[in-house]
Amino acid sequence: MNALKGKRAVFYTLGCKLNFAETSTIQKQMEAAGVETARNGESADICIVNTCSVTEVADSKSRQAINRLHRKHPNALMVATGCYKPPLTPPLWGENFLFVDGKQKGEIVKLIAERIATPLQAEKTDTLALEGDKRGIFVPACARGERTRFFLKVQDGCDYFCTYCTIPFARGRSRNGSIASLVKQAEEAARQGGKEVVLTGVNIGDFGKTTGERFIDLLQALDEAEGIQRYRISSIEPNLLTEEVIRFCSQSRAFMPHFHIPLQSGSDEVLRLMHRRYDTKFFGEKIQEVLTYIPDAFIGVDVIVGMRGETDELFAEALNFMEAMPVSQYHVFSYSERPGTKALQIPGIVSPEQKHERSQQVLKLSDKKLRTHYNIYKGQTRPVLLEHSKNAGIMHGFTDNYIRVEVKNQELKGKGLDNTIVQVRLGEWNEKGDALIGEIE
Ligand code: SF4
Repeated sequence: MNALKGKRAVFYTLGCKLNFAETSTIQKQMEAAGVETARNGESADICIVNTCSVTEVADSKSRQAINRLHRKHPNALMVATGCYKPPLTPPLWGENFLFVDGKQKGEIVKLIAERIATPLQAEKTDTLALEGDKRGIFVPACARGERTRFFLKVQDGCDYFCTYCTIPFARGRSRNGSIASLVKQAEEAARQGGKEVVLTGVNIGDFGKTTGERFIDLLQALDEAEGIQRYRISSIEPNLLTEEVIRFCSQSRAFMPHFHIPLQSGSDEVLRLMHRRYDTKFFGEKIQEVLTYIPDAFIGVDVIVGMRGETDELFAEALNFMEAMPVSQYHVFSYSERPGTKALQIPGIVSPEQKHERSQQVLKLSDKKLRTHYNIYKGQTRPVLLEHSKNAGIMHGFTDNYIRVEVKNQELKGKGLDNTIVQVRLGEWNEKGDALIGEIE
């Protein structure tokens, strides 16, 4: 790693929380190898872009980020990693470009050092794909986001192969950290002052593929770990959110009444085209199960509109189902064509205009659901974790059941309430309409 000593690097991340946590780990590893992080305005020897490829827009943003950094640091080694695979021919970013496959992220520092030591072997290094090891290794990551909560990566990759998704190809098969190592990372986050940890991964509920451990045992061990006061599970497939997990969360010390469950479509026909592993009946029963154990839970739900084969009739059916679901919010994504996916063989392309129109309808429904969830809790007192704020007179935070709260109070000045859990009485909507105004009790 001598080749890296004294070099300066810049880091740029796109996409999900998992990517942000991983960039933070790569940065720490680079620093341990003697690389300094370039400050704003300083020139860099190495640029590392952790890309996203969830949609065509994400692809284009990834490309733009690489272009921008290449223009700013024309002599730097440009390293792209993550889910977006840039075209390697023609060489858009010159010889001085290294693509590190998502499955090779664990070896990124070594690959960069090798490339810097032997620049002429560029082509050989570029094609170092883990052909024989589609699962890849698990690269641990735990990072603080926006100065308050920590994101702990517990799992990576996916074995599901939904027809529209490239993640199993980009990130490899499902793998995970051991319970013991993850508990240690949570305890370390607590030592650094962390109060809330969000468990992240690609298909979290599939935890255990490499260690033979169970997801429920991970939750129990984290709940018993010292220091962390709040855990949230970032997203879990409905078929993997077992009754045992829900029951455990309802009685646990620190797991919040908050679930994020992908539905993707409210039409059974579209779910079948997507190769999802449940139908709408199962999903509806799962939501009821959550609310039976945890009636005040916040339930966020992902949906994709405009999947190939989603006719007007099927979308109308999906929207009716979504309307009937007692959930708190929908996160809408427009289907986008991904090279190499099975979905490309499905007939019935939905036009961009139709996709836009359908997104708008789901967003409108989501707004209604969110307002209903918030309105139920007006007048109640709930625990809120106050977040770092640049404006000492106004602070924001989330209740246990994920209601955004604004605490407006000149008296907060200088009180150092950042990263503190306080009891807040919830009042009316704020002016912007994105939070309830609260008063600290
Ligand atoms: S579950 Fe499906 S959508 Fe989610 S990452 Fe795996 S293949 Fe992609």
